[in-house]
Amino acid sequence: MSGPASPASCYLLQAQGKDALGVPHTYSVVFDLGPGSFGQLWNYTDPTKLDALVLSHLHADHCSDIVSMQVHRRWHPRGALGPIPVYAPKGVKDRVRGLDGFSPRDDFSGEFQFHQLKQGRVFNVGPLEITPFASWHSVPAFAFRVKGPGKDGDAIFTYSGDSDECDTLVQAAANSDLFLSECGFTSEDEVRGIHMSGERAGRVAQNSGTKKLVLTHIQPWTDRDVARREAETTWRGELEIARPGMRFEL
Ligand SMILES: [Zn+2]
Ligand SMILES: [Zn+2]
Repeated sequence: MSGPASPASCYLLQAQGKDALGVPHTYSVVFDLGPGSFGQLWNYTDPTKLDALVLSHLHADHCSDIVSMQVHRRWHPRGALGPIPVYAPKGVKDRVRGLDGFSPRDDFSGEFQFHQLKQGRVFNVGPLEITPFASWHSVPAFAFRVKGPGKDGDAIFTYSGDSDECDTLVQAAANSDLFLSECGFTSEDEVRGIHMSGERAGRVAQNSGTKKLVLTHIQPWTDRDVARREAETTWRGELEIARPGMRFEL
């Protein structure tokens, strides 16, 4: 959920590349768009310049601000911005319709070009090659492994989405430069198949051989030091706790 320090899930990934005409272009992909995040995004980039939106799953805390993006694209004072590719699990159009609540017949084709995520079906946004991995959550959900141009050759970024500990997460994060992992639970939460505690996220990181672990999706009521201490029981590498506006260069 959103909390006093942060809107809900949203991560901006940018990479330098060239467009179809060979002109240099900063490619911008947004992973998830939880409540309050679309407005915050304006502090970091011009949302008219986004190249793609990727939704890890259709829980409201990861997608509900898509209705803000829809209004922004349809009613922009310079004129409609046209469709942006949206990569999401099956059912996204109905989900947007339900959130929007305006017209049961609207297909949003003027604002969004929907693409269905499938395990292993790679897609590209400029120089970024994005591979979805089916994760372990209470609804169909994906983690993402992204390969793109880094400071020293290719860089690998992995985002867990929402998931409990599973083999596909370890594969998604294998030898990555940065693993952005959810940590929705603490060790006091015993239910399985939804989120990871710090201990479980740390173990996925340790088994994957990633260079750096960043914990996110920590509930506002959870002490960050608890998440850190739990992760340190299973992970021995570099560890950071995500906060709004944090930036990493790979
Ligand atoms: Zn979820
Ligand atoms: Zn979530």
